[in-house]
Amino acid sequence: MNSPSNRHESPFASSTDAMHAEARFGAHNYAPLPVVAARAEGSWVEDVEGRRYIDLMSAYSAVSFGHAHPRIVEALCEQARTLAVTSRAYFNDRLPQFLARLCAVTGYARALPVNTGLEAVETSLKAARKWGYRVKGVAADRARIVVCAGNFHGRSITISGFSSEPQYRDGFGPFTPGFDTIPYNDAAALERAITRDTAAFLVEPVQGEAGIVVPDDGYLARCADICRRHDVLLIADEVQTGLGRCGHLLGSMHDGVRPDGVILGKALGGGLLPVSAFVADERVMDVFEPGDHGSTFGGNPLGAAVALAALDVLEDEGLCARAHELGALVLRELRAIASPLIADVRGRGLLIGIEVDPSLVSARTVVERLLAHGVISKDTHGTVVRIAPPLNIGRDVLERALAAIRATFDELGDGYVPVRAASRATASLHSR
Ligand code: PMP
Repeated sequence: MNSPSNRHESPFASSTDAMHAEARFGAHNYAPLPVVAARAEGSWVEDVEGRRYIDLMSAYSAVSFGHAHPRIVEALCEQARTLAVTSRAYFNDRLPQFLARLCAVTGYARALPVNTGLEAVETSLKAARKWGYRVKGVAADRARIVVCAGNFHGRSITISGFSSEPQYRDGFGPFTPGFDTIPYNDAAALERAITRDTAAFLVEPVQGEAGIVVPDDGYLARCADICRRHDVLLIADEVQTGLGRCGHLLGSMHDGVRPDGVILGKALGGGLLPVSAFVADERVMDVFEPGDHGSTFGGNPLGAAVALAALDVLEDEGLCARAHELGALVLRELRAIASPLIADVRGRGLLIGIEVDPSLVSARTVVERLLAHGVISKDTHGTVVRIAPPLNIGRDVLERALAAIRATFDELGDGYVPVRAASRATASLHSR
């Protein structure tokens, strides 16, 4: 991180001031952990007061290649000075380079660039519906898409409408029709749900937001086979699992599956910008004609240059293999922690969840206590602590974080500890 002399000054005198200002002027649609990041580099985040934290959540995989990666920052600065935003009204000379690279890396024929993950999901849904009508021959306005309980694909009204999480839907209806929900990790349920109107099956290779829910080996392969037999598109939402996170380029590769369409996001923006894409072969993507779909900022040269650099980093630093190797280490170490509070440890690559017994401790308490040890993680659904560091985290840093996790469970003993007491724990890792 920058030395104190050239350090960026925070506009706030304290973290408390920043939190109060956000609460005063912002919508209250989040309940963040009480840490205010002011600087970050690699796997380290520093707050307003200069306390340092190891980042074990990587902005839900958006920072898979670490904060402020020098190569990606350089690409951003260089491109910002040269050509940044053009819209798609005319061509730019960075987008084709990015598209060609993304297709080469993923092995698909075409890519459609957008900004956020949910836009890429919406793009895939539009592609699937139009493919259903134009190619499969589904009767007008009857196309259906099968999704899984526990899914997370974003927050638009259409996507919230097929969420199984009551809070994501409550107060936001009416919703878009045409979606059927089946249990996750149940291939037989997919076969039962398919009708002649089914255009696609949308699935996450590992359900991240649901609490790192890892399906059985072979689940996706069975789904792929069912989809093929019924002429249904298999669309993998790899916004969180893709680009190395699960120890392969794509999470689907764990099962040796090549989906008909893949949704990418988060890490594609190199931790600097929102860059997402839907990738597929011609038979799917060629349903789009000029005017069908688009986005003002989608495919902008700045995002294209950043994503190109991000793909370079992924490849040159061998991050898929690294996630595989470090993921196995973390799983082994976490499973060796003898704590009655831990009900399960699961994951693929560096997408890992520690499930706690909610009758003994809440995941939020564990996360707050970890924060006091200088480690940022995130609780999900009250019972799961998410462990998903940057894929290029130093092994020594990871060992330090694991020691903090061990110390945390040690301190928590075998009983319930209120959040307030956890917050007072000493900050062993805060000092340099
Ligand atoms: N799909 C998955 C699997 C995700 O995890 C997320 C974000 N957590 C999204 C889509 C939505 O991405 P965004 O927040 O960029 O819209």
